[in-house]
Amino acid sequence: MACYQLISPFAALGVTLEVGRIECEKSNARALVRAYTNLPGYEPWLMHDTGFNLTSTPARKSLAKYLGGRLNLFEIRGIDWESIIEKVCGISLGFMRDGPDVATLGTIPRGQRQRYLLNPLVLHADRTLIFGDSGTAKSTIALAVGMAYKTGLPLAGMTPTETGNVLVCDWETDGETAQARLDSLVRGAELTQVHLDGPDADCDDPNCSYPHIFFLRCYFPLVEMADAIARLVVERGIGLVIVDSLTFAAAGSAKDEDTVIPMFNAMRRWKCSVLIVDHVTVEKDGREQSKPYGSRFKRNAARLMWHVRAVPAESAHELSVGLFSEKGNFSGRMPDVGLRLSYYRCGLPTAPAEEADEIRIVEDDPRSAPEQRKNLSHSAQILLCLREARTSLTKDDIAGRTGIKPDIVKARLNELKKVKQVVALDAEGTQSARRWVLASHRDEDEA
Ligand SMILES: [Zn+2]
Repeated sequence: MACYQLISPFAALGVTLEVGRIECEKSNARALVRAYTNLPGYEPWLMHDTGFNLTSTPARKSLAKYLGGRLNLFEIRGIDWESIIEKVCGISLGFMRDGPDVATLGTIPRGQRQRYLLNPLVLHADRTLIFGDSGTAKSTIALAVGMAYKTGLPLAGMTPTETGNVLVCDWETDGETAQARLDSLVRGAELTQVHLDGPDADCDDPNCSYPHIFFLRCYFPLVEMADAIARLVVERGIGLVIVDSLTFAAAGSAKDEDTVIPMFNAMRRWKCSVLIVDHVTVEKDGREQSKPYGSRFKRNAARLMWHVRAVPAESAHELSVGLFSEKGNFSGRMPDVGLRLSYYRCGLPTAPAEEADEIRIVEDDPRSAPEQRKNLSHSAQILLCLREARTSLTKDDIAGRTGIKPDIVKARLNELKKVKQVVALDAEGTQSARRWVLASHRDEDEA
């Protein structure tokens, strides 16, 4: 059990001890310990990494003796290594024994919680999952969310509720590719084109409008990198971590809950907003299911989930993307979000998207394209059909307009009737002649 990382900087003494990956077995607690100093003349020469038994007195003595031989802290600061090691072991074991602080319900400050980072797409200080097939621009959309959070500028009409630093943890692509994608988004958003002409290692230009996003190319499973990422979150003041993609970040099969649950527990420890990009479940016949690839615990553990589906728009250089809410822990299903991505190269429309150096993203009606409609649930298609008709329809009318089989239309209408979304006008008539309207439309007529 790699449970947490404890960093104890003794600033006045100029030494730091880090304890990580604590594992308990029976009455032994083993951990990785790193000791280092920033004392002039010793830094960076004293840096010691070791596996350490936190519960062994001889181990403490021998580590103190070893470190004392390399840096005589008693001579410089009047304190011995043994005291420091005792303290760090005590804090570590205390944490293991007592656990973290317990909250008292009723005394937690109320009304302080920011629900969204980007309403309604991304939750604040929680885990949002977007999943879709390749070619749905889901990574580009995630990066655009990062850009909005970094700059405070709206993304397709959605304004971030705060700004902050962003870290992309990428298991699929490299920094060069991600930067090219971000460059394209910067051009598309018409941000002042600072840094687009050449590299700038450490930007401290106050007038810079480039959304400098941190990028971590990941080679090891998320659970193994979680401590390092937690450290970056604190050190770099990260408010949003983007994980791309969850399936590739798994330490085993993403179909296995023993793999998936520890990943979500690890992400919770980052204590910031996390936007997770993932792949979709595709059945043998090639049909997409409305769930991320693998274990159902992905669905259980994400607090908000979007299924990303894309269709080419009318023009070849455009992509119409619908994000369909599959789960919202706060308010049930959310309204669908539509985005239209347009791709340009040297200012001219271009297809395919890979060749673009400019990507513009605007708001779109997720239901405008006929192909997108097929992506809606049958109930949603029926409701949309009735809304547009603005008159009563029989089940056969609806079947004709939507292409859904009459039997299925009938079953869905009865379900929708139970939840008072639709009304049968002549409930006494025969099933096939029965005419249906939206409950809201009938109210309008009566008013
Ligand atoms: Zn800059």
